[in-house]
Amino acid sequence: MSKEYDYEEDFWKNERKELRKDRRIAQKTDRSKYKKTNQAASKVPRPVAGDTKQGRVISISGEGILVHFSGKNYSCSLKGALKKDRSRKKNLLVVGDFVDFLPLNETEGQIVQVQERSSLLERIDISGRKRQLLAANIDTVFITGSVVLPPLKPFLIDRYVIAAKKGNMEPVVLINKIDLLSSSPEEAAVFEEFLSAYKNLTIIPVSCKTGKGIDTVQSLMKKKTSVFSGQSGVGKSSLINKILGLNLPIGEIVYKGKHTTTKAHLIPIGATGFCIDTPGIRSFGLWDLSKQDVLARFSEIRELGLSCKFQNCLHVQEPGCAVKQALEEKTLSPLIYESYTKLLEECDQGRYYT
Ligand code: GDP
Ligand code: ZN
Repeated sequence: MSKEYDYEEDFWKNERKELRKDRRIAQKTDRSKYKKTNQAASKVPRPVAGDTKQGRVISISGEGILVHFSGKNYSCSLKGALKKDRSRKKNLLVVGDFVDFLPLNETEGQIVQVQERSSLLERIDISGRKRQLLAANIDTVFITGSVVLPPLKPFLIDRYVIAAKKGNMEPVVLINKIDLLSSSPEEAAVFEEFLSAYKNLTIIPVSCKTGKGIDTVQSLMKKKTSVFSGQSGVGKSSLINKILGLNLPIGEIVYKGKHTTTKAHLIPIGATGFCIDTPGIRSFGLWDLSKQDVLARFSEIRELGLSCKFQNCLHVQEPGCAVKQALEEKTLSPLIYESYTKLLEECDQGRYYT
């Protein structure tokens, strides 16, 4: 039997070699380090009105930066002064950035200004300790799980919810493979319990097989930039293909499946929406999990904890714990408690990709 992976990142470990190669190419093509810094670099003059357009960076590769504007893609260079702007740390430009660019002809342009970001999706880089910027200006994270194969894992969903909120993105939970519930009464019961315990989240039951819930997801994607994250095997690729294949027209970039690239790129959906799907993004933000993050996520536990004997009670094995008592009295969902303790363990074990 094949190994089950909780984190997409584990699944993609083999892709690391390829990512390393990408990084080498990126370093080779980045000539900015050889140039002297210019004090005026961060003061890029405002472009003349009418000359520039506001586009969106949809991919960045050794071959160039693709900027999407009005249904067309422009291969862009960076204006000299922008390249030297070191204040933006390592990644000057990220997929998803809104930029002012000057179209030079039908297919080429020059980026003159990068606009401020509303959200930033990061992950840890290959070396294991450095943050890497993945994509900017993401509105929605579709946190995807499945009811069976693999089974529902509330702690993973909570994990992604914490990361989404920290990154200023809206979490929406999709629970896929709902069609399989009819033959799995045990899983159906867990799912019902999950729905009632996690009422404060937006949860959409979906099935790629029957098409259930797909239209709801599509309507949430309109005019937004979305990413799909979640454990390997839950059906993210199937979902995206189903969504893109139905009635949302896609732009010039055709989604070819998960094995084509490890780099992030934006897939234009209709006139105004975008979606990103790449392995790195699927398991974003799995680092820096602190006990405070975990406590902040579980308001029920926090409130119950006010009545614990010890103020600093972590509700694991302390005496006089109101949380454990609520669990025994069945006023606290065991799913929530289990998720809480699993995430606390992750903090202790330092299991995060930093
Ligand atoms: P990913 O790793 O999250 O991208 O998952 P995939 O899209 O590769 O799907 C994993 C497996 O689940 C594939 O064999 C799919 O055919 C299957 N699958 C996806 N969605 C559904 C669904 O709604 N119902 C059922 N029964 N199987 C599904
Ligand atoms: Zn307690």
